Amino acid sequence: MTALLNSLEARDTAFVLHPYTNASQHLENGPMVIAKGEGVYVIDNDGNRYIEALGGLFCASLGFSEPRLVEAAYRQMKELPFYHSFGGKSHETAIELAERLIKLSPVPMSKVFFANSGSEANDTAMKLVWYYHNAIGKPEKKKIISRNRAYHGVTIASASLTGLPNNHRDFDLPIDRILHTDCPEFYRYGHEGETEEEFASRCAASLERLILEEGPETIGAFFAEPLMASGGCIVPPPTYYEKIQAILARYDILLIADEVICGFGRLGTMFGSESFGMKPDIITMAKQLSAAYQPISALMINAKLHEAVVAESQKIGTFGHGFTYSGHPVATAVALETLKIYEERDILGHVRSVVPLFQRRLNALREHPLVGDVRGRGMIGTLELVRNKATKEAFKPGDGVAIHAGKRAQAHGVITRALGDNFSFCPPLIMTEPEIDEMFDRSTKALDETYDWAK
Ligand code: PLP
Repeated sequence: MTALLNSLEARDTAFVLHPYTNASQHLENGPMVIAKGEGVYVIDNDGNRYIEALGGLFCASLGFSEPRLVEAAYRQMKELPFYHSFGGKSHETAIELAERLIKLSPVPMSKVFFANSGSEANDTAMKLVWYYHNAIGKPEKKKIISRNRAYHGVTIASASLTGLPNNHRDFDLPIDRILHTDCPEFYRYGHEGETEEEFASRCAASLERLILEEGPETIGAFFAEPLMASGGCIVPPPTYYEKIQAILARYDILLIADEVICGFGRLGTMFGSESFGMKPDIITMAKQLSAAYQPISALMINAKLHEAVVAESQKIGTFGHGFTYSGHPVATAVALETLKIYEERDILGHVRSVVPLFQRRLNALREHPLVGDVRGRGMIGTLELVRNKATKEAFKPGDGVAIHAGKRAQAHGVITRALGDNFSFCPPLIMTEPEIDEMFDRSTKALDETYDWAK
């Protein structure tokens, strides 16, 4: 009895408040305690092994046991465990990482600013949008447009950008000056008889209408994740960004690409922006930047943004923004090593070589009676589970179908994200073809059992 009371599970329930967890159910169900990682697998406290089909949280690109990242952290800890970058101080790994990122950028960028999470990077980008417009004498150009179902984080400002009701409800969000436009998901929002390109035109026209209603002189920026990953792997329809960017250019609106998930090879290109011809003024990134072995995020800004920061510094006396751990030596050392590994092992080449199998297995599930839509690109994909394939009738929130599918997947040794109507795959980029087959074989069993359960 004492052993049970002192178990990790019991102590977790007693002391930990979990992010994105039903706090009430957690008191009854307790946690799943993960003890160890090995390649694309994690092992729980009872010794059960699972394929991590979501790379943790869309981030563990090199799996869960890469010794070079451990050594990079240890080396840096011994040499200089902490220093900051306030007041012009610097250190080697932050400098080298910034230089590498600028060289990797899909569009010309000028400077890199470091933070600790995707949310912080997006918050910083929002502050820079406001700062920039003050600097260039357009103080009224401050509203920022995001999209319904977008995910950009959870801080007060980035959660406001996020276009998901549960991130706003009872948190008194969104804050003002944040607007949301259409989500470009064709399956749910495309009209009968409409082509994907026509749908893209309709999304663009809707954005332009919003800009004109609000007054173009009040709109500062448009935020977009190239492919909306956690919103349900929403791949923009062909011509979408071409049309959106033409409108942004017409009204002199900045484009910010949130590359927190798409960045560093997820779509088979170094950045998602390359996959869709996006030409952003700011790029935010996190997650795969350090293969998730250290918390670190960054944003790259172009020359005109940087010129504004210089001008404001001359006027005010400083750039009044920064985190204690901006450019933390251990985090930057691990991120730098991550980028070296990506290059040396040709991770992009590997992704491109396994994507055909990944997408073939994903798309084969289109035939499954539980699957209404399949969306994917590169090494990310989502199945949208429906009650009725023909009518696209969704399950009701209380049906718990995705939760059941997630539990069945776990019983078959796969951890994934089964949320709302979505069953998602975003495995470590190092996943091999036999592991991809194993992940889909096991997941298919879970879907079969869920279908029988839901009938
Ligand atoms: N932006 C995108 C596209 C994300 O997927 C996430 C997290 O999943 C964030 C921002 C927020 O990142 P973080 O959880 O590190 O604050």
